[in-house]
Amino acid sequence: MIIAIDGPSGAGKSTLGKMLAKELGLLYLDTGAMYRAVGLAVLEKGINFDDNEKVSEIAADTNIELVGEPENQKVFLDERDVSAEIRTNAVGQAASIVSTISQVRKILVEHQRTLGENSEKGCVLDGRDIGTIIFPNADAKFFLTAKPEARARRRYEEDLNKAHITTYKETLAEINLRDKRDVSRADSPLTISEDAVVIDTSELDLREVFEQMMSVVRESQNAKSKTT
Ligand code: C5P
Repeated sequence: MIIAIDGPSGAGKSTLGKMLAKELGLLYLDTGAMYRAVGLAVLEKGINFDDNEKVSEIAADTNIELVGEPENQKVFLDERDVSAEIRTNAVGQAASIVSTISQVRKILVEHQRTLGENSEKGCVLDGRDIGTIIFPNADAKFFLTAKPEARARRRYEEDLNKAHITTYKETLAEINLRDKRDVSRADSPLTISEDAVVIDTSELDLREVFEQMMSVVRESQNAKSKTT
């Protein structure tokens, strides 16, 4: 079973993706973490973000692994645990810039598709292009969204918990900038797949959204069992 979750930053994709993966015993794949790992590698190597060729080389040559259970998954960049480092605003911006480069997308999309296809019982993937590009035939597709202020508030609180020094205003500006880049890029812009279930999470609590998502998943499981 493949579950696709797309949407802008801070809409609750990763929290809900982890909850679903845990409930259903599926692999969880945070595709944004992979773009963040490439962004971090580019920053650390001091490569110019305009140099598409060099940035693509980094994406091809670095080894990115997501290890562990959904709720405490670790991100490894060439065997180094970078789980905390990739969560800063600077790395978020770097990720959003490298994700506009087609060659970088090609490499990561292939990697993500292979991981999903080879997962034992199936996979929950969260990102921006899961239902449109990576798994257009996913069993259940969601597009989570929320008002920018609600998304910035959530991100800001997450950052505070992780002791990243930032302000609400900075976080709002940061996610607005990334969202703008994500919807306007030429390759795989953030769009709503026509068969995705759209949920606005601004006024809902996570448990309610989780229940809504689970009922869509159960419907899909039932429909599948009738045809097999
Ligand atoms: O999901 P997260 O906010 O951590 O992703 C960081 C950035 O990576 C996004 O702003 C987006 O530009 C990029 N991304 C992408 N495609 C994905 C996942 C993330 O372009 N599937």
